[in-house]
Amino acid sequence: MSRRRFLAGAAAAAAMAALPTAIRAQQRRVAIAGAGLSGLHAALMLQQAGFEVIVIEGRDRVGGRILTLDQVPGRPEAGGSQIASNYRRLLAAAEGVGVEITPPEARLAFPTSYLINGRPETRRGWSESPENPFPEELRAITPDRLTSYLLREPPFRQNSDWHSAGMSHFDVSASDWFREQGLNDAGLALLGANNSYGNTLAGTSLLSLYRVVAGFQRGAAEGASLLEVEGGNMRLPEAMAARLAQPVRLGETVDRVENTGGGVVVRCASGLVIDADAAILTLPVPALRQIEFSPALPARQREALDAVVFNKVTQAYLQASGDDWEACGIPGSIWSNAEFGRLFARREAATGNALVTVWINGDGCDRYDALPEAEAGELILEDIFRVYPDARGKLNLRGLVRWGADPFSQGSWPAWAPGQIGRYYEALRQPANGVHFAGEHTASEFSGMEGAFESGERAAGEVMAAAGR
Ligand SMILES: Cc1cc2nc3c(=O)[nH]c(=O)nc-3n(C[C@H](O)[C@H](O)[C@H](O)COP(=O)(O)OP(=O)(O)OC[C@H]3O[C@@H](n4cnc5c(N)ncnc54)[C@H](O)[C@@H]3O)c2cc1C
Repeated sequence: MSRRRFLAGAAAAAAMAALPTAIRAQQRRVAIAGAGLSGLHAALMLQQAGFEVIVIEGRDRVGGRILTLDQVPGRPEAGGSQIASNYRRLLAAAEGVGVEITPPEARLAFPTSYLINGRPETRRGWSESPENPFPEELRAITPDRLTSYLLREPPFRQNSDWHSAGMSHFDVSASDWFREQGLNDAGLALLGANNSYGNTLAGTSLLSLYRVVAGFQRGAAEGASLLEVEGGNMRLPEAMAARLAQPVRLGETVDRVENTGGGVVVRCASGLVIDADAAILTLPVPALRQIEFSPALPARQREALDAVVFNKVTQAYLQASGDDWEACGIPGSIWSNAEFGRLFARREAATGNALVTVWINGDGCDRYDALPEAEAGELILEDIFRVYPDARGKLNLRGLVRWGADPFSQGSWPAWAPGQIGRYYEALRQPANGVHFAGEHTASEFSGMEGAFESGERAAGEVMAAAGR
């Protein structure tokens, strides 16, 4: 990678400028656990700054929660899919490794049809529907939009303020707060049906929902459009990994991290041992809590690792034979409170294939995640056929991804429970005993992919600063 291209990112440039020249020449070794976007970004920054970098990855592929299903019709993104045009670090990194970011050819259509308690509804008809449990002043708002509507005035001005001390009185149960706004049990159940930020609505921090809504508002205010990586989002982490001097050690699961006084020893289940001057752990919290630390982590940090869970997500990728989902009785994208959650319909531009992504969130995934993969796929189809009998024999399963059941992530992102942001957010990102922590869950300003880049940049900066002492 040419130095000039890498420095295209303003943030990376700033970090480099802050680096004492003496450190650039000095070879220091950093072990990085996790070859997702945060780990790869930190690795490239440190390599550029003259560090020797060894990246260790438990899966047999790089990318982590970026996963393009190359073998499935329509090449769906099973993980991080939408890149906002205000993801400046990501865009700069992509440019640096020669990866094109483009507008999507065919976007997943967001639902405009609803299926509530088994009854088809339209956006227009919702206010008059007998299934509408919302109070009079909210009846015109469909359940997929109500959270954003109720939280349209976030209590913080800067996006990075969501975790500040002054916000603790919003770090409460979202369902308690929504009840205060006049929602009854049926209304709360509907709001929680496809909640992506907690496994139950009662167990979701209102503050984390405010953060999400504020992120969307910021994107809208900045006129951000949605983009994707040409050829699939996986091409970005693959291209980043290809720029590393030492190939990523794939299939190596870190299980113990020791501070020896002189440095950090990272041990893997295979027996691989990496001696380093510092380590960055970028694992999602549920994977991180499996690791043994010596000496033990500070009490609050250990408690945080044990307490924070990730939001469960199960997705199935379906294809309608005859390239027609209408013949299946499915009107297009659907938001439902049925077991299968949401259906996102998309027609592939090149082939005309009619594709449907099923997206199930939270504890609703348990029904499917408890089963062997083939049976889980069958059950999703059966649940759909019960509602849309014409789809039987016409809608075929092409792929299934269960993030909640995946040991390397156990979910999609933090399902911050009430009180957890105040108690654990800072603890999760504090360096301890020569070990630094990155990963999207430690980001401040952005969430998602850009949050992963932001966190990798911060952790790389910490390692550089520590080496300069
Ligand atoms: C379904 C879904 C949809 C999403 N949609 C969007 C979206 O539209 N836009 C957006 O911006 N973001 C989206 N995201 C979020 C985005 O994908 C993530 O925030 C980002 O990819 C996280 O990167 P990371 O480096 O922090 O973590 P990860 O990508 O999880 O990387 C951590 C790595 O650590 C590895 N690992 C775990 N345990 C061990 C171990 N013991 N030893 C070694 N390695 C280990 C993992 O295999 C993984 O590769 C989505 C995520 C999901 C799951």
